[in-house]
Amino acid sequence: MLRRTKILATLGPATDDPKVLDQLISAGIDVVRLNLSHGSHEEHRVRAETIRDRARASGRQVGVLADLQGPKIRIGRFKDGAITLKEGDPFILDADCDLNAGTQERIGLTFPDLIDDVRRGDTLILADGAIVLWVEGVEGSEVHCKVTIGGPLSNNKGINKQGGGLSAPALTDKDREDIKFAASIEADYLAVSFVQSADDVHEARRLLEEAGGRAGIVSKIERAEALECVEEIIEASQAIMIARGDLGVEIGDAELPAVQKELIKKARSLNKVAITATQMMESMISNPMPTRAEVFDVANAVLDGTDAVMLSAESAAGKYPVKAVEAMDRVCREAEKQSAVRKSSHRIDSVFGRIDEAIAMATMYTANHLGVAAIAALTESGSTPKWMSRISSGIPIYALTDHVATRRKVTLFRGVYPISFDVAGMDSQTANIEVVDELLRRSAVRNGDLVIITKGDLNGVEGGTNVMKVLKVGEHLCRQTINLELIRKTY
Ligand code: PGA
Ligand code: MN
Repeated sequence: MLRRTKILATLGPATDDPKVLDQLISAGIDVVRLNLSHGSHEEHRVRAETIRDRARASGRQVGVLADLQGPKIRIGRFKDGAITLKEGDPFILDADCDLNAGTQERIGLTFPDLIDDVRRGDTLILADGAIVLWVEGVEGSEVHCKVTIGGPLSNNKGINKQGGGLSAPALTDKDREDIKFAASIEADYLAVSFVQSADDVHEARRLLEEAGGRAGIVSKIERAEALECVEEIIEASQAIMIARGDLGVEIGDAELPAVQKELIKKARSLNKVAITATQMMESMISNPMPTRAEVFDVANAVLDGTDAVMLSAESAAGKYPVKAVEAMDRVCREAEKQSAVRKSSHRIDSVFGRIDEAIAMATMYTANHLGVAAIAALTESGSTPKWMSRISSGIPIYALTDHVATRRKVTLFRGVYPISFDVAGMDSQTANIEVVDELLRRSAVRNGDLVIITKGDLNGVEGGTNVMKVLKVGEHLCRQTINLELIRKTY
């Protein structure tokens, strides 16, 4: 059985050996993440080129997602290395302090305007929750705090404010440069960090298009404010990432499970893609086996309907990047056997606005109820297989297209598998035969299996899908068993 849930693995120093990349590809990664918070453009360019080379060499398609750093507020560096803060200690965040001159008493800030966003009574969280500071008051450039949870604190750690409310804009100067870089390597997806509103998404897309990029925008949901207008954000994006690291700090860890379920449901119902991210296999940074809790986390994300599960430091900087992918792979496959994720009552009461969307829905209804072995969507933009994959099903959806950008884009969609296929010059009957032959060659179907093919008028027009054809493998040269056509009429 093919795995439906996609695995997104962050590349980093632990994966730079091309042999490791080969192992990651055979372990089943679908998309790689270049985390632009770390490393140089040159390093990321080499990673993108190498993964595409290696994927090509093994006949696979791997998508590339470039992830912007965003306005992550960080403390500066300590003059004499890490310090230890004890509960009750005073500590000052000082906008005027040199970024390299931190001491036991005070530290500088990468976003000096922080001082305008905090007040007495606020709680600041450092290093993803390792250190908690209570704000006693702001005096001039100094935020005076009292340590409520202590521990070691080292250079450049992140700062979040509990409850949200930091005003740093979503796109920094570095992000603007990084967007040009993402366009230059033809990234398939661009992840925008700390999105606050749909306007942030539009702005990122505008900058990307200006730079000649065609990536899909992934909005990272990791701010409390984003939840207030999350539908508009989802509508404006191609995908969302449930960025549980920063989001958990802002809204509280206990709120995360419900929010994750809600966000995945919203994304799917708006025909958008969802990625579940952060700490999914965290203990595998240093251990060869996941904890039981991590196994449950990945499986639960699959049951929630996520398109993809993501590895961060586990693959980028951990000791066992390949084992982490293998663990995700086996957990996803088992979870996908649960009947709840193979059935759907999604959009049972909806009215469809488009012919291609209606064809996609009719296909899934037929496929799930007739018991077909495979769905083959001849597609230009990838929209039809994306609509199909919003419906829970156990049936593989093959996206057949001549466009490499589309083949890479669908790497993120749950249950969708790219195939390079050129219909140019084929009539409809020949296309059917060629599609079935291609599926036979891949052992995706056997003689006697039912297959559904969707297509348009084979003229390369986006949004032109208007045919759903049900064929029996082996009989497709003769008369078709069922032929449903919705023809665009202009009268
Ligand atoms: P990050 O985003 O890894 O870039 O911080 C994910 C998260 O916050 O969970
Ligand atoms: Mn984050």
